[in-house]
Amino acid sequence: MAVSHLQCKECKAEYPLEALYVCDQCFGPLEVVYDHSASTGDVAELRRRIQGGPQNIWRYADFLPLAGGPPGPSGRLASRVGLPAGCTPLIRADRLAERLGLREVWVKNDAANPTHSFKDRVVSVAVTRARELGFETIACASTGNLANSVAAHGAALGMDSYVFIPADLEEQKILATGIYGTNLVGVEGNYDDVNRLCTELCAEREWAFVNINLRPYYAEGSKTLAFEIAEQLGWELPDRCIVPVASGSLFTKIARGFEEWTELGLLDGELPRMNGAQAEGCSPVASAYAAGADVCRPVKPSTIAKSLAIGNPADGPYALDLARRSGGGVDAVSDDEIRAAIKLLAETTGVFTETAGGVTTAVLAKLAARGEIDPDERVVLVITGEGLKTLDAVRGTFETRTIAPSVEAFEAGVRQTVSV
Ligand SMILES: *Cc1c(COP(=O)(O)O)cnc(C)c1O
Ligand SMILES: [Zn+2]
Repeated sequence: MAVSHLQCKECKAEYPLEALYVCDQCFGPLEVVYDHSASTGDVAELRRRIQGGPQNIWRYADFLPLAGGPPGPSGRLASRVGLPAGCTPLIRADRLAERLGLREVWVKNDAANPTHSFKDRVVSVAVTRARELGFETIACASTGNLANSVAAHGAALGMDSYVFIPADLEEQKILATGIYGTNLVGVEGNYDDVNRLCTELCAEREWAFVNINLRPYYAEGSKTLAFEIAEQLGWELPDRCIVPVASGSLFTKIARGFEEWTELGLLDGELPRMNGAQAEGCSPVASAYAAGADVCRPVKPSTIAKSLAIGNPADGPYALDLARRSGGGVDAVSDDEIRAAIKLLAETTGVFTETAGGVTTAVLAKLAARGEIDPDERVVLVITGEGLKTLDAVRGTFETRTIAPSVEAFEAGVRQTVSV
């Protein structure tokens, strides 16, 4: 068992592996620390062990904070639990690359998870840990995708769940949550209001809020995206990753995953340039980056990228530090750029993403247009969610023709406008 303890990211005070998330000495966030000293050395053996694991995130159980330890070669233990996430496609996107004047672009399509977003990775880990700690009820404060995933995991595991969302969320995300039979609570306010309410509730109830008191475990789940990208590239690092930023957890933990494997000798080379992507209507991290600041000033979100609409990002300072030390950056794009990028990605790759993926694709296009990306770089574009969940964003972006069911009607009405 490699997982060791929790540690404050600021003052390094140590804590036991319980449902704790904030340092009581300095109020810094806690994170999981591992001791991999037993597994360093034989890289070939480590890789074989991973490759022999199940076709889901539990193949990386050695690097996840589960007291139950790795599931063993067959992955029996962990793959039995709930809704296995991960092992999503990494697609070489030559047509997109060509449109942008680049040579090697890969799309990591994390919409291909059980509830169609990368959140299944973090929820699987948090909920598995919650069960180990004896919790019977799971909960979350969500911008949408987390709601879908927590509700579905509750259903799969037979646990009670409480899901708190801003009341004005996309209808698709509300329907795709309530259907699982969760206790769904719409809160009048934005995500930051929902989060504040949930933090208060968390102090009063014996619930596992996956992104509050279980946050140190939850965050670790995002490392599996990095592990998969590296494994799918044949145990190589990309040169650059474009990643959406809401709280900044995904962005920083993808980098942590690359670093952890490099420290263990599983990967060779430099940390990829890490580019964070935000919507202009909620860009506290991009604004702080542009201003050369170390901390983010909270904002009131107003953007079609609702899944990224966190005005007060918990991991903002760490995201800024990562963007700078990796030679990447953090950029923001407008709602119109997001819509255009959803269409560009769909037309060139066959991948239909939600608004968050429009944000990353638009940032990629912007960096390429600015000449910031060397044409020979290997770039990974992280697509975190599914287009069917944010249909309003693309409504009206193309024309449909309706005709009578006859060849004449087709010839008269359509033929001159479509190439057949
Ligand atoms: C939650 C979410 C993110 C990023 O979340 P972080 O809080 O930054 O970890 C990105 N994309 C989608 C679609 C999401 O739902
Ligand atoms: Zn501390």
